[in-house]
Amino acid sequence: MTDATDSRVAASGDALPRYGVFIDGRECAAVEDQWYATHGPFDGEAWAEIARASAADVETAVDAADRALSGPWSQMSASERGRCLMRLADLIVERAPQLAEIEMRDNGKLATEVTGQVRYTAEYYRYYGGLADKIESSVIPTDKKGVFAYTRYEAKGVVAIITPWNSPLSLTTWKLAPALAAGCTVVVKPSEFTSASMVEFAKLFEEAGFPPGVVNVITGFGNEVGEPLVTHPKVAHIGFTGGDQAGRRIYELAARHLKTVTLELGGKSPQIVFDDADIEQAVKGVVSGIFAASGQTCLAGSRLLVHESIHDEFVERLVAFVADARLGDPLDSETRIGPIATPGQFRKIMEYIEIAKGEGAHCALGGNSRPELGAGQFVEPTIFTGVTPKMRIAQEEVFGPVLVVMPFTDEDHAVELANDTSFGLAAGIWTRDLHRTMSMVERVKAGTVWVNNYRATSYTSPFGGFKQSGIGRESGVDAIREYLDTKCVWISS
Ligand code: NAD
Repeated sequence: MTDATDSRVAASGDALPRYGVFIDGRECAAVEDQWYATHGPFDGEAWAEIARASAADVETAVDAADRALSGPWSQMSASERGRCLMRLADLIVERAPQLAEIEMRDNGKLATEVTGQVRYTAEYYRYYGGLADKIESSVIPTDKKGVFAYTRYEAKGVVAIITPWNSPLSLTTWKLAPALAAGCTVVVKPSEFTSASMVEFAKLFEEAGFPPGVVNVITGFGNEVGEPLVTHPKVAHIGFTGGDQAGRRIYELAARHLKTVTLELGGKSPQIVFDDADIEQAVKGVVSGIFAASGQTCLAGSRLLVHESIHDEFVERLVAFVADARLGDPLDSETRIGPIATPGQFRKIMEYIEIAKGEGAHCALGGNSRPELGAGQFVEPTIFTGVTPKMRIAQEEVFGPVLVVMPFTDEDHAVELANDTSFGLAAGIWTRDLHRTMSMVERVKAGTVWVNNYRATSYTSPFGGFKQSGIGRESGVDAIREYLDTKCVWISS
């Protein structure tokens, strides 16, 4: 294998920096020595080359992870593993600006947003570092005399982590931190659009004290490396965040091989505003719920359900609040809305805007691209009113800055509209009535419900979807269980 690190360090003049695969503690070119360019969404320029791995690299990476599983990693106590995670957290804080810069170049998120997000990933490693030696098993009272039964929680083995482009390091961390705390070893397959930050991040693991091979990264495309990774016989569990289509495919492949999965998929989450809500607070919450990261977040509150008595006023205030939001360079601190991360995603959003217009929805704000900005990959924050529940724009995930608004008459109607979706990732409820809050929390089918706030997530608290938004949970104590097998031991004297 050719060493790619030197070529990146040496890259100057016309040569683009190269990011290789990271296997067994070393960054190198892929077996076939193929590379592809990665582009910045703001200027559209190619800024780096990424190794285009193949099934042969999957083999090497999984072998490295498998060797590490039975090597020094398995000899470490849970407390020692925890200390590695804590040291990693410190290194992340130190290197957050550099990692964030790479991530911004690749997915065009706002500088302010990404730096905070990358720094916050450190807290996940701290939390799971602390949790590693606190997973207690139990002694089971049984009906068998003279026999003693207890449980042990054991690492599942080699885990595949497959992630999307919208929050690369953060969404990887949601899986990686609990998997490592559980004692698993890992092969990460980042999105083909945003691989560079993960390759750079992988280099911190040795410094943090992880043996080589515990964390490996293979770069490339879903069909070329994702599928061989999912079906590899030595991979025990797949942690996936991404779209519905890839999620189904991975679930099918995993089922054929009887592997376990954690799937974090899409959403069409409702924001439900009652007539007694603090309107100013609700306007701000609805706006950040849908327009943060240009709407490219799984938990985007993309369906606004608003009580009919305040519908017109609320829409007016929303439009006024968003109308002046500045679109532009994500590095500029005045920018509120950055570019769309990939050309394919840009086209998809513009298609959905046309679909909504064709379905008869009324465009109350936006509805256009902004070809004069950067490389033209910008979509105006867009609000559609006059939307009916069965329209495609009310049912399908756009993954862009597009909000649909529907009025409701009473609580039953709000619940009916909120649950009229195949997704169930999240919901926001805006009301000052405690009785109504409790009732809505119970009736809305979603993995996360925010009341009078939206978007709060933490390493402490489980996150995941109902219905077609996913399987399993990330974050909190629940997440570490996804990476552990339960063994029951029976002992007689
Ligand atoms: P995607 O599904 O196209 O790709 C995600 C990852 O899967 C990429 O690394 C890709 O290479 C890989 N992949 C694609 N096909 C594969 C296959 N057949 N086998 C193995 N791997 C494969 O998603 P995307 O476009 O990168 O991200 C956007 C989607 O992610 C949205 O639908 C969004 O809702 C979802 N998302 C969900 C969450 C969540 O936590 N629920 C968070 C962020 C994004």
